Amino acid sequence: MIRDMCRDFATSEVAPLARELDSNRRYPAHLVKRMAELGLMGVCVPEEYGGAGMDTISYAIAVEEISRACASTAVVLIGNNSLACSPISSFGNEPQKKKYLPPLAKGEKLGCFGLTEPHAGSDAGNVQTTAKLEGDCYIVNGDKIFTSNAAEAHICILFVRTDRARRRRGMSTLIVEMDTPGFTVGGNMEKLGVRASSTCDLKLENVKVPAENLLGGEGDGYKIAMKTLDSGRIAIAAQALGIATAAFEKALQFSKERIQFGKPISANQAIQWMLADMATEIEAARWLTCHAAWLKDHGRPCSREAAMAKLKSSEVSNFVCNKALQIHGGYGYTEDYHVERHLRDARITEIYEGTSEIQRLVIAHSYLRD
Ligand SMILES: Cc1cc2nc3c(=O)[nH]c(=O)nc-3n(C[C@H](O)[C@H](O)[C@H](O)COP(=O)(O)OP(=O)(O)OC[C@H]3O[C@@H](n4cnc5c(N)ncnc54)[C@H](O)[C@@H]3O)c2cc1C
Repeated sequence: MIRDMCRDFATSEVAPLARELDSNRRYPAHLVKRMAELGLMGVCVPEEYGGAGMDTISYAIAVEEISRACASTAVVLIGNNSLACSPISSFGNEPQKKKYLPPLAKGEKLGCFGLTEPHAGSDAGNVQTTAKLEGDCYIVNGDKIFTSNAAEAHICILFVRTDRARRRRGMSTLIVEMDTPGFTVGGNMEKLGVRASSTCDLKLENVKVPAENLLGGEGDGYKIAMKTLDSGRIAIAAQALGIATAAFEKALQFSKERIQFGKPISANQAIQWMLADMATEIEAARWLTCHAAWLKDHGRPCSREAAMAKLKSSEVSNFVCNKALQIHGGYGYTEDYHVERHLRDARITEIYEGTSEIQRLVIAHSYLRD
């Protein structure tokens, strides 16, 4: 049911706008409103907090279907669900959940996730933004980079250093309302893909955050970041899968229609083998993604499997989009056939929420530890 609903919505309302949103780097405000009406801005948020109360498999299916039409629109969806609602649902106390989850899940407010800094990329434990407790407020100072959705967001899950003497154990997480004085969002970066979603720097100068907005306890920040990314990676795997599926479907159709040497190009074994490899890789990535989501839904450990799903799906997505463009020949290189957009969009899935190299580290360490 969720796949049918999301596919209907994505095909009739999202796909027709995708090219224009990408070309004009236009935030899909209307589509975000529609996704909220369909319950997609808080897919896994319990119903008592205004969400749809669905499981991770349903969420992965929703992300895949939206990404199949427009990967940028999926960035907005993922940022709100995986990176804002999920840490509040998992680590928030009752007043925090009551205050912040309903507006996020209903699409009245948008969330973003401020972890990355100039000196803390893959090395996420090296966060330098400081938060000093003075009375009943933290005073926050620092800079964040590459924050998805920041231009439109209202609430930031912000990772800070509360103890300079300790590294990972010195990190904490704050829920920060972005209209607090001293909180500045920089301009939207020009980028290769997912162009309709914003990516901005954040500057925090003496931002006063109520101590009651501490998520979890002091020193829990690194753990919260890693747990959030564990499940977030399942969504990135689904996003990569959706992009790959779109590129494959377009290549399949094109191969049947394009006539060269008096026959469709699909009559050539070289093209058939490309299609076979693309479809097989997509199916493998889909099962890894479903398995990771299933483990999470059953309360089982899923860090390794989520990393495997993201690694495989993102690499498959780039492989498939490249082959799809090749099957389109010169037409694929133009903007008219959309595969160049899919290829540009696929590229980020190997980078954000942990690069492919970091996924390999996570996977290898999980075996070396056992
Ligand atoms: C469009 C976009 C949106 C983003 N959205 C967000 C967001 O919403 N919130 C947020 O907090 N961050 C966000 N990010 C940041 C993203 O998560 C980081 O870019 C990513 O984690 C990599 O960090 P880095 O760019 O500093 O690269 P670096 O860490 O500098 O890595 C550079 C290269 O070195 C490799 N490398 C680094 N360390 C190792 C190692 N130990 N072993 C092997 N190879 C290694 C990396 O794999 C990579 O190939 C976003 C980035 C982009 C581009």
